[in-house]
Amino acid sequence: LNNISIQQSPKGIIILGSTGSVGTQALEVIRDNPAIFKVSVLSALKNSELLIQQAKEFKPEAVVICDESKYLEVKTALSSFDIKVLAGEDALSEVAVYPQGDIVLTALMGSVGLKPTMAAIKAGKNIALANKETLVVAGELVTQLAIENQVKILPVDSEHSAIFQCLVGEEQNEIEKIYLTASGGPFLGKNKDFLATVKKEQALKHPNWVMGAKITIDSASLMNKGLEVIEAKWLFGLDVAQIDVIVHPQSIVHSIVQFTDGSMKAQMGVPDMKLPIQYAINYPDRLKNNFKRFNFLDYPNFSFQKADMETFRNLELAFQSLRKGGNMPCILNAANEIVVEAFLNDKIGFLEMSDVIERCMEEINFVENPQLDDYLETDKHSRILAAELVTKNIF
Ligand code: MN
Repeated sequence: LNNISIQQSPKGIIILGSTGSVGTQALEVIRDNPAIFKVSVLSALKNSELLIQQAKEFKPEAVVICDESKYLEVKTALSSFDIKVLAGEDALSEVAVYPQGDIVLTALMGSVGLKPTMAAIKAGKNIALANKETLVVAGELVTQLAIENQVKILPVDSEHSAIFQCLVGEEQNEIEKIYLTASGGPFLGKNKDFLATVKKEQALKHPNWVMGAKITIDSASLMNKGLEVIEAKWLFGLDVAQIDVIVHPQSIVHSIVQFTDGSMKAQMGVPDMKLPIQYAINYPDRLKNNFKRFNFLDYPNFSFQKADMETFRNLELAFQSLRKGGNMPCILNAANEIVVEAFLNDKIGFLEMSDVIERCMEEINFVENPQLDDYLETDKHSRILAAELVTKNIF
């Protein structure tokens, strides 16, 4: 490291979604490195209690509570602090462009991340992207906008962080293909008869990663991997045929790049989201930490196997949506958000989630070259149809 890179003042981090799993882990990283990072903005969907607690500790310029009914509670609790309090989803786009913020960590859940991410990119802010739905819904639009504004999109998703880290120093070289690793989730090896009867309590028990409910269900159904395939296409400019999924139940190899000479690079480590988070927000420098180190003797065997896309149809549907292109991944994602919510509320079975998504992909109007408005329309229509199918029990 050269001596010119001495940090002048801490890097301002705008956290969209600070009370979720990634948000709280990002705050742990920031808490451990006060000379390097400071919090510029915190935001929460509805967890006002935790948001208030975080705001008192990290003293950001502003906080956003998306649930407007909780505005007064937050405002009152922070009245003795010099912190601006905003409410409503639209406020996310407002704080995403705050001049005090150097980087925006998008740790929101679902397609609600799209608009604030685009606003931040237009304002020239680098994005630490944990909200994969943004690229799933409108990957082409968002990556193009990032290029136009010379903004970096730094992946926080562990697989994409792995690929990204493997590509450092390889700027001149072409990727032949990538392998996204998948743990297989709690239902690895199970058949359809078993899956037909599973309940959310079983699906919420992920073997390796501790995450929010939505992504944990997506991991159990392999939709998470499907969304990650789409995310990878846009992040790394790949064709669908260059992206493969390989099940690796130990979750130590986080993903693999294969170059045109057949050489492969993998990034490995103990599964801990704090590592990709800190790599993204401190890129290009690595930060020292005391996280648990990998011990080979704990893992005498690594294994790899084919992903079972016949049983876990969501992964196949995601590949299909990407091959079709246009607004198809947006349809898939919106329908998925609805069916996951329905599954979590015991309104729909595990396998029926795929049936609803497939119906939406068949019935929602296909748009080959969508613009932002088309994506927003598609997102809305797909949600309405999916909810209708769930309510009426038609798949
Ligand atoms: Mn991931």
